[in-house]
Amino acid sequence: MPHLTVESRRRSELIDITAQVRDLVARNQVTEGALLLFVPHTTAGIFINENADPDVAEDILTTLSGLVPRQGAYRHGEGNSDAHIKAVLTGSSVLVPISQGRLELGTWQGIYLAEFDGPRRRRVTAAFLAPLPEVKA
Ligand code: ZN
Repeated sequence: MPHLTVESRRRSELIDITAQVRDLVARNQVTEGALLLFVPHTTAGIFINENADPDVAEDILTTLSGLVPRQGAYRHGEGNSDAHIKAVLTGSSVLVPISQGRLELGTWQGIYLAEFDGPRRRRVTAAFLAPLPEVKA
C-alpha cells in the first residue's frame, strides 16, 4: 500500500505534507478519483486547512494546547493523554478529490500531519479510490 513517511521534530507540530502528497499522486499517475489519506497512529492526526499564512497553523496548535493541557486529571498511565485527545479532535483521515491529475484543494488549503507526541517517525497510508463508471439513465 502506498504511504508517506513523515519525521516530526517537536512534541507538538503541524507538518505541511501537501507537496509530498502531490508527488505521490504524480508518481502513481492517478488522473481521476480521490485519495484517502489515513494516519494509523493514536497520538497524531491529519487535517486540511490554510497553508498560505503560517500563523494559521501556529494559532491552531496554540489553541489545541490551550483546550487540552498537557497535565490534567487524566487516568492514562503513559502520560500522553493530551496527545490522544488532540488526535481525536483533528481526526485520522482526509479524503481529497483528484481531477486531471491534480488534487482538488482550494487555493488556501494544504494537508497537515498533526504531531502531538513527537518527535517520532509517522506513517500516512494512502489509498486511491477510482471514480465510478458513468451511470446512464
Ligand atoms: Zn498513550
